[in-house]
Amino acid sequence: MTPSTHIIGGGVAGLAAALELAERGDPVTLYEAGPVCGGRCRSYFDRELGCRIDNGNHLLLSGNHAAMRYLRRIGAADTLGGPGEPVFPFYDLSRDERWTLRLSRGRIPWWLFSQRRRVPETRIVDYLPLLRLGHARPGDTVASVLPHNALYRRLVEPLAVAALNTPAYRGSARLLGAVVDETLAKGGENCIPMFPREGLSESFVDPALARLAALGAQVHTGHRIAALGIEGERVRSLSAPGGARLLGPHDRVVLAVPPAVATALLPGLDAPDEHEAIVNLHFRAEAPPSEAGFVGLIGGLAEWIFAKPGVISVTISAANRLLERPAAELAHSVWGEVARVFGLAPDLPPVRVLREKRATFAATFAQHRRRPGATTPVKNLVLAGDWTATGLPATIEGAIRSGFAAADALRAIPSTA
Ligand SMILES: Cc1cc2nc3c(=O)[nH]c(=O)nc-3n(C[C@H](O)[C@H](O)[C@H](O)COP(=O)(O)OP(=O)(O)OC[C@H]3O[C@@H](n4cnc5c(N)ncnc54)[C@H](O)[C@@H]3O)c2cc1C
Repeated sequence: MTPSTHIIGGGVAGLAAALELAERGDPVTLYEAGPVCGGRCRSYFDRELGCRIDNGNHLLLSGNHAAMRYLRRIGAADTLGGPGEPVFPFYDLSRDERWTLRLSRGRIPWWLFSQRRRVPETRIVDYLPLLRLGHARPGDTVASVLPHNALYRRLVEPLAVAALNTPAYRGSARLLGAVVDETLAKGGENCIPMFPREGLSESFVDPALARLAALGAQVHTGHRIAALGIEGERVRSLSAPGGARLLGPHDRVVLAVPPAVATALLPGLDAPDEHEAIVNLHFRAEAPPSEAGFVGLIGGLAEWIFAKPGVISVTISAANRLLERPAAELAHSVWGEVARVFGLAPDLPPVRVLREKRATFAATFAQHRRRPGATTPVKNLVLAGDWTATGLPATIEGAIRSGFAAADALRAIPSTA
């Protein structure tokens, strides 16, 4: 009999593992603690705003190859939108200045030779240190290895904070280098910004669940696994609502939960334990049409603004510093910036302020060092999640890769009881 795989956690890492295994013909059962799957990447209907919103804006790049492969396999590749070109519009609030970074598509960065396509007040040579980020010493931070010039203030720091969700003075240069190596260094073709046209769940979750159902996988929401019954180096049972679920002698388990849950379920596991928040503000307002559908802000509180039909959403990363700030005060300050960028009335529209306290692990070197690989000392148990050793910061790309890697790691596990 083919052994069953039990996947704990229905975020994109768990869904990617389930997809990989179910497509190979393995029997799969997924347990998600929450009422719906998606974890930190999900949409919901907000009664107060009267529309569906995402828990937070998520930006992907066309060079996120695992994420793109996942979307193709669940039939959702066409649910992402964006400018279709490697363009990044910015607005500097301190100078009331707009510009757009326009990369060329190929590997040779022709765009660097055009002043109109570069960041204003930067020279070609300013960009060269970016290619060295991946070769930084392990403990180097982004702020410690790059010169603090106009390029740093107007491009590198905003991108680093967004990619690492960690302030540049703490964020690992090597982790940012890994992102640069897979995107900017490969040319604009790999840097086309993409985001869900409708919502995160409509792109990453619902089509995956439909595909899993078609493949015969079982998905149980509202099923928190409270403990793993580990005996003799194997998981033998799962404590599920309604009682223990006994595993077959050859069954396997993928633990695809956040790091704090994983360390509670698997004593002795070392994992990142420091987190950074992300604050999102969703305003019920209409932005004027724009080329890219989003804009990066410099010199303000807001960092990225996304314009969707009827909703303007703002992201602020590395936001532990804002956790105590009253929501109304945040909303007023941020709307003031949004209204300036789009030339809208200063009156505050209906707004939802969402603070994801543990949005991602802090992408410092010390935390990065604590990231475990997929395999564990428990022979039929593997790990997945954006916090495992993916080589990338905590992103959808990393989470999906970890799910695929966990499925691969199971192949190498002997199925002896
Ligand atoms: C506000 C915000 C903005 C972000 N922006 C971006 C972005 O722009 N681009 C990008 O690429 N990434 C972004 N990210 C990061 C991205 O969302 C995550 O990297 C990714 O969703 C993590 O997926 P995961 O499956 O590893 O973890 P999770 O999504 O945390 O999934 C874990 C799942 O396990 C479930 N679970 C927990 N305990 C149990 C249990 N005991 N039993 C059963 N189930 C359990 C949880 O309910 C959850 O569904 C952002 C994250 C946030 C929060």
